[in-house]
Amino acid sequence: MVSATSFSSGLALTGSAIRPADKTIVVTFGGGARDEETFAEEGQANIPNLLHTLLPQGTFFTQVRNAGILGHYVATASIVTGVYERFNNFIAQPPPNPTLFEYFRRELRRPETDAWVIAPSNGFQKIGSSSARGFGPQFGAGVILPKRLLSAASRNTNLFDNDQLQHFLQDNYEMPSYDISATAQDNEMHLDTLESTLRLSVQDFVKHAKTLDSADELSIFIAKRLMDRQAPSLMMLTLHDMDVAHSGAFSLYIDAIQRADRLCAELWKAVQSHPEYKDRTTVYIMPDFGRDADDDPAGNGFQHHRTGSAMARTTWLLALGPHVRQNTVVDRAIESIDLVPTIGCHLGFSTNSPGRCIEELR
Ligand SMILES: [Zn+2]
Repeated sequence: MVSATSFSSGLALTGSAIRPADKTIVVTFGGGARDEETFAEEGQANIPNLLHTLLPQGTFFTQVRNAGILGHYVATASIVTGVYERFNNFIAQPPPNPTLFEYFRRELRRPETDAWVIAPSNGFQKIGSSSARGFGPQFGAGVILPKRLLSAASRNTNLFDNDQLQHFLQDNYEMPSYDISATAQDNEMHLDTLESTLRLSVQDFVKHAKTLDSADELSIFIAKRLMDRQAPSLMMLTLHDMDVAHSGAFSLYIDAIQRADRLCAELWKAVQSHPEYKDRTTVYIMPDFGRDADDDPAGNGFQHHRTGSAMARTTWLLALGPHVRQNTVVDRAIESIDLVPTIGCHLGFSTNSPGRCIEELR
């Protein structure tokens, strides 16, 4: 017998058999990370967890090409629509093509609590759903902006301390003056998310944030909280600390890559020790793109991603999950827009993406 409770806790019917529903977590490094500081030989010391703990449990693609615009919002939107989007990176707008979340929820009839995005910058607030006809917010993902959540929460308590929390609140590293002013309504909406979705009191949230070092740690904390409280089937988060590279501080860029490496392992551990996620979750980890090459006279090396060179366009993908072959390296080139059709062909929904289902991950 299948009870209503077992449906809501993540079980699905397939024919006459009942099997645990698959869950999917996509982690992007939305800061641009070069091979040189990650999986290339000279970078491997920065990623001991990805290399020695996660890669042996998954399939690793050494060549992922991003042929689109190398700005974080438009590139992340392209990853979630499976189409190289062409809009202005610096204007928060819904992507014109349907997102992964809308395909997933519309075709598989999933409830709105089942898809979430955790994003670093206020510019990502509209990434959860598109402006495409027949799609839109009624099928989209909830979007949580941890920095905005913290800023709304800190306004509501006497726990706010500029010195202790200010480092979380820089919205992005490319346009430090980007307007992040939130309306009273925005603040209220975020406080509501904190209490009704994450079931966290404002005081506890701010107190916990004070124990963390960075915005990426806050994002992982929220991801784990979502897993506990909502157990969504589809979640995407973007780690963004490493984009501090734009400041020109190589050591901070490296620190952030090392932190992302640790946080990916922490997330996988949380997945594999969570009764709703263990052995039924596929995790995809992929930088949105690389950064400029040191010897490219048109660029400034690791600092930016402006030249569109091969190094800035080429990155990698690591996939882990029950249907994914372990300890496997694939050298054939794939594209970043292949991710959405791949998740679609695995979970059983169709997409309009010109990308291809990656056969090794079907
Ligand atoms: Zn950047």
